[in-house]
This record gives sequence, structure tokens and C-alpha cells, in this order.
Amino acid sequence: MEPDIVVVGAGPAGLLAAREAAHRGVGVLVLEEHEEIGVPDHCAGLLSISGLRSLGLNPPRRVVQNQVEGAAIYSPSGFSVHIERGRHEALVVDRPSFDKWLAELAMDAGAEIQTKTRVVDVKRDSGIEGVKTYTDSTMEIISSVVIDGEGSRCILSRMAGLPRVPRKSMLPAYQFEVRNARVHEDLVEMFYGNRIAPGFFAWIIPLGESRARVGLAARDKSKIRLQAAIRHHPLMRERLQGARIERGLGGTVLVGLPVARTYAPGFLVVGDAAGIVKATTGGGIIFGGGAAQIAGAVAAEYVKIRENHERTLSKYEHAWRARYGRDLKVMYLTQKVIAALSDKGLDALIKNATELGLLNTIKESGDMDRQGQVIFRLLRDPASMIAGFKVLRYVNLSHL
Ligand SMILES: Cc1cc2nc3c(=O)[nH]c(=O)nc-3n(C[C@H](O)[C@H](O)[C@H](O)COP(=O)(O)OP(=O)(O)OC[C@H]3O[C@@H](n4cnc5c(N)ncnc54)[C@H](O)[C@@H]3O)c2cc1C
Repeated sequence: MEPDIVVVGAGPAGLLAAREAAHRGVGVLVLEEHEEIGVPDHCAGLLSISGLRSLGLNPPRRVVQNQVEGAAIYSPSGFSVHIERGRHEALVVDRPSFDKWLAELAMDAGAEIQTKTRVVDVKRDSGIEGVKTYTDSTMEIISSVVIDGEGSRCILSRMAGLPRVPRKSMLPAYQFEVRNARVHEDLVEMFYGNRIAPGFFAWIIPLGESRARVGLAARDKSKIRLQAAIRHHPLMRERLQGARIERGLGGTVLVGLPVARTYAPGFLVVGDAAGIVKATTGGGIIFGGGAAQIAGAVAAEYVKIRENHERTLSKYEHAWRARYGRDLKVMYLTQKVIAALSDKGLDALIKNATELGLLNTIKESGDMDRQGQVIFRLLRDPASMIAGFKVLRYVNLSHL
């Protein structure tokens, strides 16, 4: 078996890269360790409509569970801001179905997908042109390029000599799916506070028909903190009184910067494995997916040209950084400041959101994904700068 490109991992990033490369007529083999694509899932499934459009994706109805118009953000003492513009802003998807649909798209483009196959090693031997991929079923596959979409574990990217996502950028997350919840059916709710979710926030995402995903990420003990929040946080308790938990799932939310280098000879790393995630929310599908599409296109070009190899692969990194780099950096810095605010600071931030110019700017130019642009606009406005300084005195420097 000698495909041009081996893709490790049938998550959104791997599948979008595979589809993009296969479209360009090169041979693509995706290897996925699990038996069923998209399972086990570890996601809230919230995807902006504009972000999906930027990826050229229009998920079918069987994948979409709900549509939401905006978000309500609550401070520790219950101050709140509502961000909505009277139109549907985001879809809530069922991740297993979403991933399966992406797999169909990749196969329609000509990619082959092999499940129950775990990649255990990638090597470049002298004497061969390309990369050897070894699987747990002792298969040895030679390809020109490997695209690594293994998720945040970063085992293979380290083998390829690339930096891994640092542990300090990983927050444990836990999420329940519940029934009979009294939730706003078209509004996502986010709850900040150092007592309930130090370093991040808790969320309620409506799924329609009184069902919801209720989750929390924090510096530690995410499951215990989530259970405590459901019992003791006044608003969460109100929403979830009498609700029935159907299942729980854990995962890792990334809140760091992308890794410093995302290509090596014959090797590209995409998605969570490259840390291409919005640090303010942990959302990785839109930007990680967009970067993965670039990886697929560059890898196909690399296979076809067969010269200037190193330079061709470096185009991947230049292109995704040009498209997403600034937003990712600004979101990272913003998340760091928010995570370092005391509860008084979080209260001040949310209470003064209007004075800060936050609401108007978001309404005018806000984008769920390109939050860096909104933050830049705020920083250029002297009124919001002054209000911002009032909040910044509540930053706990030891958390920066
Ligand atoms: C609780 C939670 C909620 C989230 N909510 C959202 C959200 O609402 N919106 C959003 O955009 N993002 C969200 N995210 C982040 C999102 O889930 C990730 O950014 C996204 O899944 C990354 O996609 P990926 O393809 O890079 O990796 P993954 O989805 O992790 O896929 C990696 C795949 O590689 C396979 N694999 C790994 N190693 C090997 C190997 N050695 N051999 C073969 N196969 C291998 C795995 O089985 C898996 O299928 C959330 C994350 C968490 C934890």
C-alpha cells in the first residue's frame, strides 16, 4: 500500500486535510485508531455559521441539533451581557455525526479511510524518499507526506521532532448531556467565576426540546466542579433543577498558542496537535479545520512538484499563520488576562461591558471566531481603554 499522503486521525482536522488533498487527485489514506469515526466524542459542538461558511461547509440536517442566536455571559455576582444580533449565529452539531459526514466528504473526494488502525511510529529513513508510517497491526506504509491530525496528545509530532502543545495550555474539561432542562433554546450561556471554574468558564448549550450540554473547564477537578456548579450556582441550579443526566464525557480544552513549528521534512501537523485553537473558548474546529485545508492543499502540491520540498511544505505554516495567526495571539492574551482576573475584576468587566464599548463593537463587527479583530477595535477606542484599565487592576499577576 503506497498512498501519496498518509493522514493520521479521522477527526475534523485530519478529514478536512484529507478531502482537500484528495480533491487534487493525489492518493490519500486516513488511518484512525477507533472502530467508529467520531466516537468517543469530546466536544460541545458549537460552530459559527460564518466559520463553517469560510470552510465551504454546509452541514446537513441530520448533523445539526440546534441553531443559536447568541450568548449570555454571567459574572460571578450575576451581572450579565447578552450578545445577539437577531439572527442565527451558530449551529450546534452532533460531533459523531459531524465527523462521519466529513469522512463521507473525504471519501467522495477519493480518500480512503481505514479504522481500527493505530499509528505507532513515523520515520524518515535514509535511502527512501518519503516517510514510513508504522501501525499497531505491523503495517509499514511509505508515503511522500504524513499529515498528523492526532489531536492534543502530540505523540507522533514529537517523534517527528516538532514541539508539543505544552501541558500548561491544557485544561481538563467535563460535560453532561441532560434532558428536561429549563434552558433558553436559542442562547448559549457562559458562567465565569473563580469559585466555579478558575481559569475558564462553565457553559450551557441548548440542544432543543429541553435538552442541553452542560460543561465546565478549569485549572483542575473539572467534573467535581461541574457537579458543584449544577448544585450551587444560582442560575445553573435553576436551569437544571429536575433535569436528567443522560451521559457524561471528559476532554481537554486548549488555551495556549499554536506550537512554534508545524512542519518538518515530509510531515505536517494540523488541528489540536498543532494547538490551532481559539484560547478564549477552546474551539478548535473552525481555525484548526481551515489550517488543515491549507495543509491538504500544500501536501498535494508537494507530492506533485517533487522538488524544492522543504520550501513547499513551509508554505503551510506561512499560509495558516497569515490567515489566523494574529487572531489566535490576541485571543490567547485576552484569555490569559480573563483567567487572571479576580471575581471582582470579572464583575467589573461584565458590568462595564457597555461602557467598555464591548457590546456595540461586537454588534457592529463581532465575529464568533475572529475575536482578535474585535479586541483590536476596542483597543483603538480611548473610552474603552480607560474603562479597561479599571478592570486591569483586578488582575492577579501570579496567574499571568
Ligand atoms: C469539552 C469540549 C468541548 C469542546 N467544544 C468545542 C466546540 O463547541 N466547538 C469547537 O470548535 N471546538 C470545541 N472543542 C475543541 C474540539 O473538540 C477540538 O478542537 C477538535 O476536536 C480538534 O480536532 P482534531 O481533528 O485536531 O482532533 P480530534 O478531534 O481529537 O481527532 C483526532 C483523531 O485522531 C485519532 N488518533 C489519535 N492518535 C492516533 C493514532 N496514533 N493513530 C490513529 N488515529 C489516532 C483519534 O482517535 C481521533 O479520532 C471542545 C473540546 C472539548 C474538550
